[in-house]
Amino acid sequence: MSQKIVVDFGLCEANGVCMGIIPEVFDLDEQDYLHVLQEEVTPENEQQVKEAVRQCPRQAISIVDE
Ligand code: SF4
Repeated sequence: MSQKIVVDFGLCEANGVCMGIIPEVFDLDEQDYLHVLQEEVTPENEQQVKEAVRQCPRQAISIVDE
């Protein structure tokens, strides 16, 4: 079973904390709109993605099974 990153854009306040932790996955554009560049949780990104989940001040990031 794979796992996927989901952001609740209603909660996200575009402060860039997640991008600071792992910019390969989270990217804020010039309009302060957050993009998930890579939705899949992989062995390579898992630790940092989980750290972003923990540190997001809005608790807007979730990891879901698919
Ligand atoms: S850390 Fe959370 S609130 Fe901040 S940009 Fe990322 S998802 Fe949005």
